[in-house]
Amino acid sequence: MTHVRVAIIGAGFAGLGAAIALRRSGEESFVVIERGESVGGTWRDNTYPGVACDVPSHLYSYSFLPNPGWSNVFARGGEIHAYLRRAVVSESLGDHLRLGTAMTALRWDDEWAVWRVTTSGGSLTADAVILAAGRLTEPRIPDLPGIETFTGDMMHTARWRDDLELAGKRVAVVGTGASAVQLVPELAGVAASVTVFQRSAPWIVPRPDRAYSYDELSEFASDPDAVERVRTAQFWEGEAMFAARAGDPAAIAAARQEALDHLHSQVADARLRAALTPDYEIGCKRRLISNDYYPAVASGAVQLEPSALASVDQGTLVAASGERYDADVVIFATGFESAEQPYAHLVEGIGGVTLAEHWSNGMTAFASTSVHGFPNLFVVNGPNAGLGHNSAIYMIETQLQYVLGALGHLTEVGVLEVSAEAERSYAAEIDRMAEPTVWLSGCDSWYLDPRSGRLTLLWPGSAKEFRERNGTFDPAPYLRPPVRSNTQTRTVAPPASVDQALSVGW
Ligand code: NAP
Repeated sequence: MTHVRVAIIGAGFAGLGAAIALRRSGEESFVVIERGESVGGTWRDNTYPGVACDVPSHLYSYSFLPNPGWSNVFARGGEIHAYLRRAVVSESLGDHLRLGTAMTALRWDDEWAVWRVTTSGGSLTADAVILAAGRLTEPRIPDLPGIETFTGDMMHTARWRDDLELAGKRVAVVGTGASAVQLVPELAGVAASVTVFQRSAPWIVPRPDRAYSYDELSEFASDPDAVERVRTAQFWEGEAMFAARAGDPAAIAAARQEALDHLHSQVADARLRAALTPDYEIGCKRRLISNDYYPAVASGAVQLEPSALASVDQGTLVAASGERYDADVVIFATGFESAEQPYAHLVEGIGGVTLAEHWSNGMTAFASTSVHGFPNLFVVNGPNAGLGHNSAIYMIETQLQYVLGALGHLTEVGVLEVSAEAERSYAAEIDRMAEPTVWLSGCDSWYLDPRSGRLTLLWPGSAKEFRERNGTFDPAPYLRPPVRSNTQTRTVAPPASVDQALSVGW
């Protein structure tokens, strides 16, 4: 049986970041298991027209792998995907990658103190697992009455079908989140008609995007400090937006006014403006940035249906308002299964308890990373590790600092299991911090667990606070492992080299 020191599940920003961090620390005994045929996670899966990032490009990249060549203040999806593919080459990760290989089960073996990893391409054991399987991976398609009778074509934004011709078709888009507001302007002018089903109006502010000039790009290429200055400025601009999420009334009022001014400046028709005005607090759902969504709707090229898609009757879509629309193609921009992560059913900790069972009332993890009953497992991008106002990559790097510290300590102790009490009190701390925030101000969002109403996806503080709280590993909240005979007489020896690690079972 192949044995590695660390198995990384997922080759998106988090998994590749973990791989780079391990290699740079001198660790070679690891594999990255990725079910897709290429790396990139979100940026591989989301290829819909208009896909882009709403965090500035220099900030939305690894601090340890700056990219002086970002073309724009906000990068398009393809450019980010290319950045990650280049990272694989420049960091020589290729030999560690197992692409097209799905993790199908992760079982903790208490006797041998190893994770038994089953994949579609073979099995292995690992001292530790970094679970970097993403948080927005599984498309959510509403279970609508009559959906199976639809006579046209359907797709989800994260499963874009290039083979589906949209020119001249009557296209309906369901949803008005971050994906929809990027897609809809691209469809206008291509499709014969575009109808948007809006269950909740989004808050939208201007997108301060532009291409970097030749002079700027030259400066970035010749002066790493120039890139760092831009990145630092972008980070603090992001942090400044936290006050409006934290519940500061003046900051919320200013944020609301900015969005209302944007709406007013782009939509002249008062009735349409009313239909596009949200009825919940700004920031409660993700605040969107767009310069072309309102103009597309206001131009008449896009028809706004201000209610949910409620049912389907063969070629006709029926809105909650009762309005009926004939359509050839339905595009679901309806988001992802986030509260209940699909991977949670595949992970069995001590006593065969699954992560899904452990999280039956919502996800929790100490330091947003470690789960009681799941020793030597580190969840990146999991419970309370997301942000609504700053860069997800900063959060990932913070978690990786923590995990590297933990792995160093693991070498000494063999088993690291966080205590139940530490996990519980961290969750209570999260609840206290979340209480005054806009995320709990009454709207329904993917940040909340529908079973408990708890904020389980976002960290309810600033990015800097996350790093201060969770960036450094401390063994104190971890249980002292019992002295095990197996850790002294283990016969599954770690491999002498990564080639040996990969040579069996793959
Ligand atoms: P989302 O934010 O979860 O939005 C899903 C949308 O579908 C919501 O507007 C929801 O309405 C709507 N919906 C669901 N069922 C419906 C129905 N039957 N009829 C009408 N509308 C319905 O999903 P997303 O837009 O894919 O974005 C998910 C996350 O991915 C974002 O929050 C962001 O973190 C990330 N993302 C980022 C970017 C970027 O960087 N620009 C781009 C895309 C995605 P309700 O609001 O009423 O639930």
